[in-house]
Amino acid sequence: MAEPMHCYRHPKRETRVSCATCGRPMCTECMVATDVGIKCPDDATWLISAAAGYGAGVLINRAGGRNGGPLAIVISVLATAVPFLVLLAPNLLAGALNPRPLIAMVFAVIAAGVANRRI
Ligand SMILES: [Zn+2]
Ligand SMILES: [Zn+2]
Repeated sequence: MAEPMHCYRHPKRETRVSCATCGRPMCTECMVATDVGIKCPDDATWLISAAAGYGAGVLINRAGGRNGGPLAIVISVLATAVPFLVLLAPNLLAGALNPRPLIAMVFAVIAAGVANRRI
């Protein structure tokens, strides 16, 4: 019989679910169901960020009459980055920056830029 795994965020909780990306076990409360499998919150954040960034990029692209181009890319990248910067500002000021939200921001910003690419 396999050893029961324990949620990496709740060491006392047994679980049979693990993240599709990093393989860490997590409980049903922590797991996030995505289109590409069950993920831990850390990995799901990146996906959600990329999706949110892409969505924001598409919205701005439509608002701008689907012109795309450098200006639309700059606007959507800024619009996507600002909420993250607001979120990260307290950490930045405290000098204790967690790299994960920063990576999530990069994902979101890239997705926002890609959404506005002129094809
Ligand atoms: Zn994971
Ligand atoms: Zn948990």
